[in-house]
Amino acid sequence: MRAAVVPEAGGDFEFVEREIPEPDPGEVRIAVEACGICHSDVFAKEGTYPGISYPRVPGHEIAGRVDAVGDRVTAWAEDDRVGAGWHGGHCFTCDPCRRGNFLQCENGEITGITFDGGYAEYVTVPSEAVASVPDDLDAADAAPLLCAGVTTFNALRNSDAQPGDLVAVQGVGGLGHLGLQYAHAAGYETVAISRSPDKEDLARSLGADHFVNAAETDPAERLQALGGARVVLATAPASDAISSVVDGIGIDGSVVVVGVPGAPIEVDANTLIGTRGGVEGWGSGHARDSQDTLEFSALRDVTPEIETYPLDDVEAAYERMIENEARFRVVLEP
Ligand SMILES: [Zn+2]
Ligand SMILES: [Zn+2]
Repeated sequence: MRAAVVPEAGGDFEFVEREIPEPDPGEVRIAVEACGICHSDVFAKEGTYPGISYPRVPGHEIAGRVDAVGDRVTAWAEDDRVGAGWHGGHCFTCDPCRRGNFLQCENGEITGITFDGGYAEYVTVPSEAVASVPDDLDAADAAPLLCAGVTTFNALRNSDAQPGDLVAVQGVGGLGHLGLQYAHAAGYETVAISRSPDKEDLARSLGADHFVNAAETDPAERLQALGGARVVLATAPASDAISSVVDGIGIDGSVVVVGVPGAPIEVDANTLIGTRGGVEGWGSGHARDSQDTLEFSALRDVTPEIETYPLDDVEAAYERMIENEARFRVVLEP
């Protein structure tokens, strides 16, 4: 099979021919039809994830078909349409696992980081890290939903927001354009916050009831004028932008951070005390969360805006993502 490999931390992609991997007991082999390129692939490319070893095939937004199953696998069979995301498996025996907190597993695997990912024609994945893909979802559309999708969907559905509540999505990009669709479909009064006024039409077409041009308007003031946000889903990885919305939360409101900024977020404790509010974080989900995301997306017609590239163009495709030029998610089709 062909695979795009990072030979060493910070190295350029290289194409290699490899044996198609045999699934170990408990593993599933997936014939990859699509694999999204996510900003977190930087961890694999630049070697910034603790303990990562090389060569490594990145990619944790994998959609395809089960091609073979290892011993003891009962949940999946050849030809099933499946996907795999960031959470690449768990041990079932550590304390967090015993409490059902699989995402916090002390021995957790990460697809494309602790084992080879989806920038390849085939990948083997632990059975518990596999999600079923609905028939009416294209593989290329499903791929980004397995990371950007589950992150925003899961953050919103685990928040305290109820239908009718004011929910803002900060940033209209790879995560935000999905967050807006989920917020709208969930029945929230949905606000898009962006520093790019040219994104207003798009934001409204994705379900935003209000658009705040944060380049000209104080987003916190606008949110307070609308009654105060129950949730602000912060998707833009800029600490000053996130700091600027904290004062926009209402009673028991929270800012839920899903994009990781490079610097600490500034918070006025008066706001937190006055609202009983908080600034929280949320990261992706396990495979069943991913499957819920895919099923809801198919049900409510939530789709990512994608650019697709053949595996041969991995360098250019990765560059589109890094330069923030893609609209909005980049997907490889091996
Ligand atoms: Zn990701
Ligand atoms: Zn565990």
